[in-house]
Amino acid sequence: MEKNVVEIWGNCLKIIKDNINYQSFKTWFLPIKPLKLKDNVLTIQVPSQFFYEWMEEHYIGLLKKTIKKELGNEGRLEYSIIMDNTEKDPGPFSINVPAGEKKPTSNPSVSMPIDLNRGSSKEIPNPFIIPGLKKIKVNSQLIESYSFDNFVEGDCNRLARSAGYAVANNPGKTAFNPLLIYSNTGLGKTHLSHSIGLQVKDNFPDKTVLYVTTDQFINQFIDSVKNNNQNDFIHFYQMIDVLIIDDIHNLAGKEKTQDVFFHIFNHLHQKSNQIILTSDKSPVEMKGIEPRLLSRFKWGLSADLQIPDLETRIAILHKKLYNDGIEISKEVVEYLAYSINTNIRELEGAMISLLAQSSLNKKTITLELAKQMIDKFVKNTSREISIDYIQKIVCDYFKIPIDMINSKTRKREIVQARQLSMYFSKKHTKASLASIGLHCGNKDHATVLHACRTVNNLVETDKQFRVFVEELDKKIKL
Ligand code: ADP
Ligand code: MG
Repeated sequence: MEKNVVEIWGNCLKIIKDNINYQSFKTWFLPIKPLKLKDNVLTIQVPSQFFYEWMEEHYIGLLKKTIKKELGNEGRLEYSIIMDNTEKDPGPFSINVPAGEKKPTSNPSVSMPIDLNRGSSKEIPNPFIIPGLKKIKVNSQLIESYSFDNFVEGDCNRLARSAGYAVANNPGKTAFNPLLIYSNTGLGKTHLSHSIGLQVKDNFPDKTVLYVTTDQFINQFIDSVKNNNQNDFIHFYQMIDVLIIDDIHNLAGKEKTQDVFFHIFNHLHQKSNQIILTSDKSPVEMKGIEPRLLSRFKWGLSADLQIPDLETRIAILHKKLYNDGIEISKEVVEYLAYSINTNIRELEGAMISLLAQSSLNKKTITLELAKQMIDKFVKNTSREISIDYIQKIVCDYFKIPIDMINSKTRKREIVQARQLSMYFSKKHTKASLASIGLHCGNKDHATVLHACRTVNNLVETDKQFRVFVEELDKKIKL
């Protein structure tokens, strides 16, 4: 005689309730609906794929015992999952359905049979693990092209990059937890944080990595409050091995989200799971974030990204061009790199405009075209004259290779170019004497001062030299 499905499930619930805490019971078991009982197979309906996988991870032992008690050794459990159609938005509750053959949209309810009997079989030690479902699969949201390989190293990013690399090789186990990467916009925070995530996935395919923007995180939290499933939200984040949250400064003023993030942070940190954050400011300068969160941001390592020097900017452009299979002459690349020194995004933007212009107007990319375009481009972004830029103009003027400035050579023409670079840097930039010295051949401030005096003296006494200086000054201010 078939037993009544509601009654049987009711009995199961009683057993389960006695074995777990009430909060978990309420969260995971009360939402389940018993659907049918046929041939000793009990079918229960769970609200989502995530829910099902969570049960598999955490309660399978308990469910197995319970079913055995109620239905005997022949008893089996089947899940019916209410699929949602939110695959496009990879929030915390949309978990990739493994194997890919079950399309959630075309099939509103999918049964996942679980054979309890197989539990006693020796070949399959754990009957509850369906191949491919063992670990919850999370869409990491990582962008393949933002790899370490594509992240050009320079003085500007050395610390952050190597800390990121160390974290990727040993997530949660280095002193860099959390790792906070900060910089002005367009300097590579997002790129580097993806690189770390990708590298972790490469090194440890079993680790769950998740990249989210702070805005996504906030919106998911708001949705969870609306849908009354905050617990799912929190649980989901608490099981991520490597959590990357981009632009954390956007949490400013969001007290409720800060509160929930505080708890997630503590949980992850305590479990030695890795947290990676990016921000537009160092923790010391961040505003609108609770002190208890700020103090945690300082627990690990805060590393900044600076504007890359000319050499690194050139290397970045070459890398992009190479990856895209585009050829542009060396002089054009150098011109772009020394004209645009605000940030890398603008540098890339200028390159893309140049490529677009040349293909739309069917013009080849010449230095002339680059100059016309950059003039327009740079006017909009109010370029500041940089030491790099000055060096480039001076070296071009005297037709000497730019790297000679930083060499040790004491050849007269090189010394002169170096001194002129120092002189114009003092005149046209806000850089300190020490910093000018550092960028012009690694000299000290006294050398810079001496260079400025020498140039002034020569301007007074040497007519030819005065012409050089005047012409150079015009070029630099152009
Ligand atoms: P942020 O998040 O700091 O605003 P992004 O990570 O979005 O900056 O970087 C802006 C652009 O510059 C991206 O296209 C990125 O790939 C590129 N970029 C930044 N740093 C580097 C680097 N070191 N090497 C290569 N490309 C870089
Ligand atoms: Mg960014």
